[in-house]
Amino acid sequence: MIRTAFTQPINPVTIRTLMSSETAKILDGKALSDRMRQYMQKEIEAMHSRHGRAPGLAVILVGDDPASRVYVKNKKLACEKVGIISFSHELPADTTQQHILGLIGELNRDPRVDGILVQLPVPDHIDSETIIIAIDPGKDVDGFHPYNIGSLTVRIPALRPCTPFGCMKLLEEAGIDLHGQEAVIVGASNMVGRPMALELLLAGATVTVTHRFTRDLKSHIERADIVVAAAGKQGLIQGEWIRKGAIVIDVGIHRLENGKLTGDVDFRAASKRASWITPVPGGVGPMTITMLLHNTIAAFHSHVGEQTVGDEG
Ligand code: NAD
Repeated sequence: MIRTAFTQPINPVTIRTLMSSETAKILDGKALSDRMRQYMQKEIEAMHSRHGRAPGLAVILVGDDPASRVYVKNKKLACEKVGIISFSHELPADTTQQHILGLIGELNRDPRVDGILVQLPVPDHIDSETIIIAIDPGKDVDGFHPYNIGSLTVRIPALRPCTPFGCMKLLEEAGIDLHGQEAVIVGASNMVGRPMALELLLAGATVTVTHRFTRDLKSHIERADIVVAAAGKQGLIQGEWIRKGAIVIDVGIHRLENGKLTGDVDFRAASKRASWITPVPGGVGPMTITMLLHNTIAAFHSHVGEQTVGDEG
């Protein structure tokens, strides 16, 4: 359990009575990520001296989607900084599914590789589900394999999807007790919305998942103690919808014409009503990569037959 200066548990009643607060406190994903990565760096040095190797992450990128290239570059840089070895496989857009499945088979067998990540989305002629299922669940550091999603569903989490896991770490860091809280998730994707629902349920929240067919999104948001916005629609969540004292986690990422990043929530208005809020950038984004590193380290521990050592931070 991560504990720092501001981690006094906050119960639901306290959250609802934070009526007088003018500005929300920031759930600072950048700061938490920095602390966790510093810890990981030391842990990896120790792992290297115990086992003669560092954890390894294989990253497969198919095609040349510019956003995917940036994500892959950031993941590789983050690996290098903490001492994880990254094995890069950059394949042309017309690579066949058969070829990718063959590569995944090799990486599944490669003892230097603890984690395998296929950057999504893949080109249309490739079936992403077939690709995900081909990854050894013990190396599925994105946590998308049905085995890992199923493990989370039945409350024995193994490798957990990175973005929801990162959101949970932020809430844990702030000492927020989720038992009995009304959580509303906006978005029901396999990568974010659905596993986020499983995480919040596991933590004792009462969970509502909204999606593109939901009627009257506003009414759901207005009664939420916690809102997780992951619709991929810039500014979808209006600040006035946020209940006073609610917690707001904004997963959305959008690049504006001026180059700045923004999220699914109207941050300025929402932060006048919320008790805690994630910024974009600097909230969920860095935590997603940090949890990828965490999962790679956890996979290494499991491959060398060690228990995961404590928690980072
Ligand atoms: P997605 O397109 O796969 O899923 C979007 C979901 O939102 C769908 O379930 C859809 O039904 C729902 N939705 C769409 N419009 C809605 C509406 N008006 N009301 C309610 N629900 C609605 O997207 P995704 O992969 O889950 O990503 C969502 C957003 O999060 C994107 O902006 C993406 O860039 C971002 N993202 C950020 C991180 C991070 O690390 N911060 C990680 C993954 C995704």
